[in-house]
Amino acid sequence: MFGPPQAAETNANAMKKNRYGLSRYIPEDIALEVRRRSKFGCVVCRCAVYQYEHIDPSFAHATKHDPEKICLLCGGCHDKVTRRRLSKESVQAKYLQVMQSNEIRRPFEELDLATQNISVSMSTAKFEHTQNLIQINGRKFLSITPPTEGSSFPTLSGIFCDHNGQETLRITNNVWEGAINAWDIQVVSTQVSIRTANGRTALEFLIEPPDKIKIKELNMYFENCHLICNKDGLLVGRARGKRRTYIGVGNFECGHAKIGVDIDSSFKNIMPRGLKITGGEGVSLEGTGIRIAVGAGMMYVNDINVWTHQE
Ligand SMILES: [Zn+2]
Repeated sequence: MFGPPQAAETNANAMKKNRYGLSRYIPEDIALEVRRRSKFGCVVCRCAVYQYEHIDPSFAHATKHDPEKICLLCGGCHDKVTRRRLSKESVQAKYLQVMQSNEIRRPFEELDLATQNISVSMSTAKFEHTQNLIQINGRKFLSITPPTEGSSFPTLSGIFCDHNGQETLRITNNVWEGAINAWDIQVVSTQVSIRTANGRTALEFLIEPPDKIKIKELNMYFENCHLICNKDGLLVGRARGKRRTYIGVGNFECGHAKIGVDIDSSFKNIMPRGLKITGGEGVSLEGTGIRIAVGAGMMYVNDINVWTHQE
């Protein structure tokens, strides 16, 4: 009851047309042109997670998607434009400067994250060459893939929910969709933080060239699922009523998995009947709908434990 209505609304937004019949959807070739012209970051602050902004005319008054008049703008800078703390003229001037200057750096240009084999660690759990990190009910909730198109910033996609498991932010290939006011994304040096407006860190990761991404903190909700990553390890939780069960993944390593953590939230049982490890299939916590390292070619399991918590 939580996810799909929001998803439908997001899609409906994407399909929305303005009074001239222009769709919100920007064709991929034009979007790529805009990313290149904007040098893969917000034209004002260079943040690498952004939206497409029709500068002038605004989307409501545009008759076509003109790459010269659309730029990349992060949520924070977009908000400043909405509140009129930043003028459209300044944005246009910044865009011109970014386009014309050879001095403007790409976000994270100093990084050399050029390798196609990224290793992602979630605390003590390591996922080598695993791009689809978290999947729930067949939907990708978190994926970090190698940079493309000459950008040195990895491609981030994620679905972020509030405390009630309701989707409030979606990032698709570094493009921010959904409410801007509810979330804050900060990119400081090589650290990326995604926080709710009231300060809860949903995701924080550090990029370590040439091939490592360290997820320092994760606190993600969806329906009756709760994922936490902190210094102690990775916790995959399911709730039923006031009762929560967490599977703690401590010392764990896998390579070339199709999915890092896979959850089917329709499973009513939250206490695993047992642990099944199958070559190529990964670790299945039987009866709970939780699987880890699905399709992994290599796996090293040293520490998996279960505990329950009553609110
Ligand atoms: Zn910005």
